[in-house]
Amino acid sequence: MQKTKLKAYAKLIAQKGANVQKGQVVWITASLDQPEFVEMLVKECYALGAKRVTVDWQHLPLTVLDSKYVTLKNLSQVEEWQKQKMQYQVDNLPVRIYLESDDPDGLNKADQEKMAKARMAQYPIRKPYIDAIDNKYQWCIAAVPSIAWAKKVFPEDKPKLAVERLWSAILFTSRALGNPIENWTEHNKNLHSKCELLNAMKLRSLHYTSAQGTDLKVGLLPNANFLAGSESTLGNNIEFNPNIPSEEVFTTPKAGAAEGIVYATKPLSYQGVLIEDFSMEFKDGKVVKVSARKNQAQLEQMVSMDKGAAMLGECALVPQDSPIAVSDILFYNTLFDENASCHLALGRGFSNCVQNYEKYTQEEFDAMGVNTSMIHVDFMIGSDTLDIVGTTEDGKDVQIFKNGHWAI
Ligand code: ZN
Repeated sequence: MQKTKLKAYAKLIAQKGANVQKGQVVWITASLDQPEFVEMLVKECYALGAKRVTVDWQHLPLTVLDSKYVTLKNLSQVEEWQKQKMQYQVDNLPVRIYLESDDPDGLNKADQEKMAKARMAQYPIRKPYIDAIDNKYQWCIAAVPSIAWAKKVFPEDKPKLAVERLWSAILFTSRALGNPIENWTEHNKNLHSKCELLNAMKLRSLHYTSAQGTDLKVGLLPNANFLAGSESTLGNNIEFNPNIPSEEVFTTPKAGAAEGIVYATKPLSYQGVLIEDFSMEFKDGKVVKVSARKNQAQLEQMVSMDKGAAMLGECALVPQDSPIAVSDILFYNTLFDENASCHLALGRGFSNCVQNYEKYTQEEFDAMGVNTSMIHVDFMIGSDTLDIVGTTEDGKDVQIFKNGHWAI
């Protein structure tokens, strides 16, 4: 890919994505396969005045080895230095940038069950640190193509061509061609105006139906808003774009208020395993039955990770003409695939969707119905036949989506 295009993309991530401010500390998490791009990104962060940029290098095969050779007891431990690292994050709120490039099948050979158990054991120790920084720091997830990922998306191509094609797809769908900064200013404006329309309706539930057989009613929180695009940090009010790309308009639904059945319209890549052709049945807000043509066991394990894993934490609206939907590529990566289509997520909800969320405690969020869980997993339900009808506070029905497109 042309250097100038990559440089503009790196600038987009540092400036519009993370919005690095003068004097801030930046932590980048990246995989070993993309040193040139990481160097460009670090440079852009310094150009914006970062005080110190640190890169946490990761390598999926090492995670596989850990899952094989480290005992469950040791894998479940949060070491003292890791706690200190998290405490540093609480005290200093470094900007976080995550560059995704991993092989979607990279964890196939890992001991999934052991890893899931270790995550469960670590979670209560990590949670207070996670809660303490929630909504207070800028972060951004963006993607760069590795050979393994590119070969998964374009299996018929030679590695070099596959990587080039994936770069093109990433830059196109991330609105990073032409003038990326201007594109995103415009894009944020459009997304925010959709939110205003929806929030003014005072919707209390969404009813999803489709030709696939989806017939699901999801309750919404009276004091939760739809959000999209850029957000702002609590405290110093710095605007940032947590996801590049991002096409979704989303809210946090009422945990415990979902009835009916929903059919996924795309495979779900979860912990390196692909779950295909699946559906879920909800009763009293909880998943009571799942079925999948492939990897049903993985799906069952996912919904039983904890109490909140069987309840909804996100309703997201994405029209079928988003650049990602138009590209018609299955990326095997949620950052992209979630923006191709309307989706729901099981697990953790978004407390920052609640109006004046800074005034509430975690217990109050729990009580009002913002779901909590160690997982947050999106799955796609959008299609050309998906209709969504919202019901307002005073019982009026409003068509929100018709045949996969905005109806408002
Ligand atoms: Zn989403």
